[in-house]
Amino acid sequence: MALSSRMQQALRDGDTLARLGGDEFVAVLGDLADPETAAPVLERLRVAAAQPVVIEGRNLQVSASLGVAFYPQRTEMDAEQLLRQADQAMYQAKVAGKNRCHVFDDEQDRSIRGHHESLEAIRQGLKAQTFELYYQPKVNMRTGALVGAEALIRWHHPERGLLLPGEFLPLLHHSELSIELGEWVLDAAMAQVVRWKAQGLQVPVSVNIDAQHLQRPNFVSRLKALLAVHPQVGPGDLELEILETSALDDIGLVSQLMNDCRDIGVGFALDDFGTGYSSLTYLRRLPAALLKIDQSFVRDMLDDPEDMAILEGVLGLARAFRMQAIAEGVETAEHGAFLLRLGCDWGQGYAIARPMPGSALPAWAAQWQPEPSWKHLRVTPREDLPLLTAVVEHRAWVAALAEHLNGQRLTPPTLDTSSCHLGQWWHKHGRTRAGDQPGQARLEAMHEDIHHHARTLVALKAQGDTEHALAGVSTLCAMRNGLTAHLLALLDEGR
Ligand code: C2E
Ligand code: MG
Ligand code: MG
Repeated sequence: MALSSRMQQALRDGDTLARLGGDEFVAVLGDLADPETAAPVLERLRVAAAQPVVIEGRNLQVSASLGVAFYPQRTEMDAEQLLRQADQAMYQAKVAGKNRCHVFDDEQDRSIRGHHESLEAIRQGLKAQTFELYYQPKVNMRTGALVGAEALIRWHHPERGLLLPGEFLPLLHHSELSIELGEWVLDAAMAQVVRWKAQGLQVPVSVNIDAQHLQRPNFVSRLKALLAVHPQVGPGDLELEILETSALDDIGLVSQLMNDCRDIGVGFALDDFGTGYSSLTYLRRLPAALLKIDQSFVRDMLDDPEDMAILEGVLGLARAFRMQAIAEGVETAEHGAFLLRLGCDWGQGYAIARPMPGSALPAWAAQWQPEPSWKHLRVTPREDLPLLTAVVEHRAWVAALAEHLNGQRLTPPTLDTSSCHLGQWWHKHGRTRAGDQPGQARLEAMHEDIHHHARTLVALKAQGDTEHALAGVSTLCAMRNGLTAHLLALLDEGR
């Protein structure tokens, strides 16, 4: 009530505010000369909703996600359609991190809708058993042990072939059918665990649970009922993956739920970790056993010092809260090696295996071996982390240089050997870390060489000879590889 009266005050005379139900409000803003006129009103609304409310001496605060649709549009719209558009835009504002406003994009919607299937088709597909779970192994990259398998839904569409979840799950948002599909997934995953057991393969399965499904009041009792149908599924055989962002939606409810599930032997993983805003106190309240580091950080960690720093931070958090960490999106052997150096032993990704039908997993498990290059990699001791960071920063420098040469970046990164990050590392730690005198001289020479080559290419580009400048990039990368291999070898030598 406090918030609605504040939001009311944020509107103009003649605007209408209505509560649709739950925590959803609709504002109708009339008489707008153009879309821009709405901006200050929307901003006032957002701010009004985000102001704290003091109740019995306690500070309560929420945030609002705003979705906006304009009328008229190119095609005729009725009120129902406008509301649906606003709802979709609101959902996107939520996904983008909440406390923000998203305007419905007509073009984007049309292209998505072109690909999207209707709810009815999904309902039919469920009946006709055209959904299938694929499983992607989760492994310990150091020991080679298979530690779990994540169930990922696929749809064998009668006309369009195999569809990925991104093509149909968004459609289910706010629909009863998402619960039905969620229960089908749980049931199918449990049945798979039992089949694997019969074949002598003991592997815990993890299932992605949608926030709406999780927050159903009867979630735990339904889960118990499903477990009762599969008595061979024991404690530790099933894990639920929830998005970090949906765990934060209603932390009280979710932490209670996690405890209830733990009592029946079902564990939790926080998925896409790093994309939400978990505070440390929140993390303490979420009894999840596993943190899944979002693949966006993993993908770029080799070339982006900030992503590497995030990765390091998340691994530290996991250790502090005694949670296991796993990296998603391990796409190359190089990614795996880097993670192992950072002390992240668990991984999941294309470099290990792509998602596969359940029937294929036993054969895969019987033959899989970790990359040979992963053997004997030591966890980098804390005092050597600057060296690992220097490697990433050097790669970032080369990437920035290549961007400059191909015109994506106006100015080149610094060309001076003492002011680039690697040069700074060299100054601060490098000389003492680079081993004996010949080793030091060799490293310094490699660094000089690569800068020399870089200056030549930048000069070529400045003269307008882009073709030769770009042709030099492959040499640049080869030199980078040589230099980083040399640096990493220092780590592997021990001290
Ligand atoms: P997620 O839970 O984060 O799953 C990981 C996604 O990354 C999967 O995509 C997987 O195929 C993909 N992936 C795995 N390794 C790599 C890699 O090395 N590189 C790259 N680029 N991608 C990799 P998928 O199967 O398309 O699933 C997408 C998302 O859909 C999942 O993200 C999950 O949030 C959701 N989802 C999948 N199955 C279900 C389900 O049964 N129920 C619910 N509610 N959501 C599901
Ligand atoms: Mg997942
Ligand atoms: Mg994920």
